[in-house]
Amino acid sequence: MKNLIEKFRASLSAQAALIVSVPIVVILAFHSYLAYQEDRDRLFRNTEMQLLRVVEGLKGPAETFVAMKNPEGLQHLVDETAEGADIELVVLFDPAGVVIASNKKKWIGQPMAAMHPEDLTENDIAALEKAFAGGYSVYYDPDDMQYCCVMPIDEGTAGPGSIFISMDLGSFAAESAESAVRIALASLLVAALIGITIFYLLRGRITRRIMDVSSTAAAIARGDLEARTQVRGTDEIGRLAASFNTLADETEKQKNHLEEMVEIRVRELSGLYSVVEATSQSLDLDTMLPIVLKQVLRIMGVEQGCVLLREDKTDALRLVAHHGFAPESVQELEGLRPGEGFAGAVMARNRTIRTGDAAAEKDVVVLPGLEREGIRSVLAAPIAFGQKSLGAITVYSRQTDRFSENEEELLGSIGAQVGVAVENSLLYARTLELTREDGLTGLANRRHLDQMIDRELSRGLRTADMLSFLMCDVDFFKRYNDRYGHAEGDVCLKRVAAALRESFKRASDLPARYGGEEFSVIIPNTPPEHVLLLAEALRQRLEKEAIPHESSDIAPVVTVSIGVVSAPITRDRDRAWYIKQADDALYRSKAEGRNRVTHTIE
Ligand code: GH3
Ligand code: MG
Ligand code: MG
Repeated sequence: MKNLIEKFRASLSAQAALIVSVPIVVILAFHSYLAYQEDRDRLFRNTEMQLLRVVEGLKGPAETFVAMKNPEGLQHLVDETAEGADIELVVLFDPAGVVIASNKKKWIGQPMAAMHPEDLTENDIAALEKAFAGGYSVYYDPDDMQYCCVMPIDEGTAGPGSIFISMDLGSFAAESAESAVRIALASLLVAALIGITIFYLLRGRITRRIMDVSSTAAAIARGDLEARTQVRGTDEIGRLAASFNTLADETEKQKNHLEEMVEIRVRELSGLYSVVEATSQSLDLDTMLPIVLKQVLRIMGVEQGCVLLREDKTDALRLVAHHGFAPESVQELEGLRPGEGFAGAVMARNRTIRTGDAAAEKDVVVLPGLEREGIRSVLAAPIAFGQKSLGAITVYSRQTDRFSENEEELLGSIGAQVGVAVENSLLYARTLELTREDGLTGLANRRHLDQMIDRELSRGLRTADMLSFLMCDVDFFKRYNDRYGHAEGDVCLKRVAAALRESFKRASDLPARYGGEEFSVIIPNTPPEHVLLLAEALRQRLEKEAIPHESSDIAPVVTVSIGVVSAPITRDRDRAWYIKQADDALYRSKAEGRNRVTHTIE
């Protein structure tokens, strides 16, 4: 039962059917009640008239038979009347209330009271009393469901007697009740039919369609985004179903779009991660950047790309990594000047450039190689550290409009990430340089000098290369300091260092500050006579510098004494040996009058 109520509550059609059918039942019931009332009234009226007619027909002859004292005639009249008019009970009373004739023979000669309650009710007795007093009654007696008529009759001197007749209405009551039940059942049936019709009509037209939408919504909520409801008709529910499908289409589209975005982002993030990993592989840019480029090409799914760095001192561009170009294009990229090409443009603007038709690019100085390579799409990002532009990373494709906005954003992030790595690498290189440099003169320091001699010795040992080592010492420098002050002394040392640098420009030569006012140069693989010329050139260059030195015993200007040794590298000639030989030669230069070169050749 509870279940049924729940079902009823959950069904709009059932509720609507009930709402419509209940008033119908009430109206029909009321209508049948009125009909029943009318029926009864008509029957009562007819019965009353019939009874009066029977009594009228009975009264005259009965009075005559009484006057003639003919009881047989009277009885015969009563029997005929009862039979002919379908009367239940006919009784004639004499003035004393004793039955003188009746269709029920057992009452003849009996007093009125004896008939109660078998055939006469309280109401009948009262009506008879009234008749004996001269009044008549026609009435319906509900106690025994009989319609009765009591009429006084004249019986001569003995005073009025009375006639009592009654008709049984029991069958009518039953009939009437039956018809009322029939009508009630019929109205219930009609109401039920109407209810059922409404139920099915509503279910077909409304509820089922709403349920369709509802179950589709549930399916979508469960994750079946392809579920759609059937659109039937153009009414409100039809429109609701159509709108619902549109909403579902949009939701599905959005979900697919989001999934795509997530996939792209995951790909980008893992790409970015692989680039970060590549940047951590080495601090050497020429090792790190080709790996980075390889990763970037893999992420972007293209074949051609390059990385250019801005040289800190000269501002020139250096091609550090490239892939997928013909040799002449590589040459062109190597010769790229600041501001030229897409790399130059992104460095100048410090922001990415993305083009789907490179040839049509107006604001960029496009290189001829681009057309030769058939390149259409270019994506370039600056390699920058904050506002400091360090270089550019560029990828190319022969396809038009090859790169997306997302890829542009990604390459921008990669550029920034690589910027951090490049800056770190440059800082590291600079730190390394500082540990090798002498603070005052910028020449290699003693530590670096020692390392480089050792390296030269081990490198040249197998082939017995010639190695020359030069030492030079400023003459009377103590006096210079005393005369001009220590600060001037430092300036003087810087000028000596500059002269040294100018005299030994070859990449393989390494001028260094040995300590105090003593300098040295490693000169590998150079013929001894040439070494002597270089040493002499240094001495003369300094003389020509003409740095005043009033306290010098040998010249008015700063001079140096030089000692050089040139000897093929052998196993027993170590660093100390070369230094000692050069130092001895220098000592000889000092001893022989200073401002001269002593060369020992082994
Ligand atoms: P000599 O011709 O025999 O070499 O005479 P000298 O005076 O140069 O003698 P020595 O080489 O022994 O003198 C070294 C002097 O160089 C001692 C010190 O005052 C000076 N000196 C060493 N290092 C520095 C430096 O970094 N700055 C300055 N201003 N002077 C220095
Ligand atoms: Mg000295
Ligand atoms: Mg000296």
